[in-house]
Amino acid sequence: MNRYMKRFWGDAKNILSGNIKITNRLKFMAIIFSVTMVHLFLTIIFGCLQVIPLFLFNIFSVCTYVFCFFLVRKDLFLPVYYTTYLEIILHSMIAALCLGWQYGFAQYIIAIIPVGYYICYTMNIKRHKMMIATISAFVAVFIFLSCKMLSFFWHPLYTIENQFWEIGLYIFNSICSFLFLIVFSLVFVFEIKLTNNQLKHQNAVLEQLASTDPLTGLYNRRSMDVFLNQAMESSSSFTLVMCDIDDFKKINDTYGHDFGDVVLKGIAKIVTAQVKEHGYVCRWGGEEILILINNASLEAAYRISENIRRNVANKVFECNSKWIHCSMTLGIAAHNKKDTVEETITQADYNLYRGKRTGKNTVVL
Ligand code: GH3
Ligand code: MG
Ligand code: MG
Repeated sequence: MNRYMKRFWGDAKNILSGNIKITNRLKFMAIIFSVTMVHLFLTIIFGCLQVIPLFLFNIFSVCTYVFCFFLVRKDLFLPVYYTTYLEIILHSMIAALCLGWQYGFAQYIIAIIPVGYYICYTMNIKRHKMMIATISAFVAVFIFLSCKMLSFFWHPLYTIENQFWEIGLYIFNSICSFLFLIVFSLVFVFEIKLTNNQLKHQNAVLEQLASTDPLTGLYNRRSMDVFLNQAMESSSSFTLVMCDIDDFKKINDTYGHDFGDVVLKGIAKIVTAQVKEHGYVCRWGGEEILILINNASLEAAYRISENIRRNVANKVFECNSKWIHCSMTLGIAAHNKKDTVEETITQADYNLYRGKRTGKNTVVL
């Protein structure tokens, strides 16, 4: 038991410091632990009051919950839920028969209804989860009302003279059942928040995957279409630069496709570093990069393009102790308000191929 207590406190500390997620096993451990403590306390009380049926039933309950610890360790959550449910219902009925309604034991029946829904919904129950919880809830309502009806016709087996016990046990039972409800509501809210955060994170990852090229980390064509549409809708001017690595096929054929990838990534980094916040860089095709420069004059676009060309030409890549240089040709086209974006891309493409025809490693306006 000491070992379990230590593990329980260790896990509780980890949760509070945000180190681990609350697992189903941990949740059930916490429930079983608190329910066992309540029954241990009630065993002592009924022992002192000499209410023998309830004293014996609580000993039986404590043993049952200790057994549930082992079921939880084997991840058998549904049997534990049914056992807890049955124990609470039986406990309320025996308490109503022995002591009467006024001690508040039936309140636990109310507390197990939302817990039932929570457990059936969050556990890995494949079928009929809502039906199991709803049937359990209706049975609970029936038992609750039956206990009340019983109090009208049945004279309790035990009468405790001291009023203190009646009030004391009523307050104790109320606090325990309300605490149960409060804690479960908090766990529910906490889990909704956690799920929302996970969804947000997954959405961000999916958005990143859907908008970028996995090799270079540059935006993909889908994202560039969005940026181009935004640029078309805005009243400010923009310029497009189409870039193509020179003789890239030869690099691939000579040094291998993997080295070609390294070159592609290195060049993507150079382009991104030069464009910065001036616009967007996209992997347009195999080794073609399209740059959208916002609010820039043709001279400014030329300056950026020339910096890219020079940095690519100066970059040295290492492959098997050999130093390899490569170059890039860039074609610039400023967008004309009366043109479509496709026409501007064609213009940039045309300038790029003029550069290719006139010797490569150049920027063509
Ligand atoms: P030019 O100077 O006229 O542009 O010649 P080039 O050899 O670069 O032109 P071409 O378009 O014929 O070749 C492009 C090559 O780029 C062909 C293709 O194998 C290669 N390529 C396309 N995508 C990738 C990639 O993701 N990784 C690697 N390593 N190579 C790629
Ligand atoms: Mg090329
Ligand atoms: Mg090409």
